[in-house]
Amino acid sequence: MLIKNQPIYNSGDKPGKGRYRCMKDRNRIRLERDSDILPKCPICDSRRWEKIV
Ligand SMILES: [Zn+2]
Repeated sequence: MLIKNQPIYNSGDKPGKGRYRCMKDRNRIRLERDSDILPKCPICDSRRWEKIV
């Protein structure tokens, strides 16, 4: 189930430290620093992420 009103981020953004979930396959990653850049999803190559709160 996708939560539509979560903010969406793209690879290349620096959305700040925290956990993010791939919009396509729900793979989760963690950014450790506010200066970290969102990568492409290592599983499916998707560029779209939602923040996990
Ligand atoms: Zn993915």
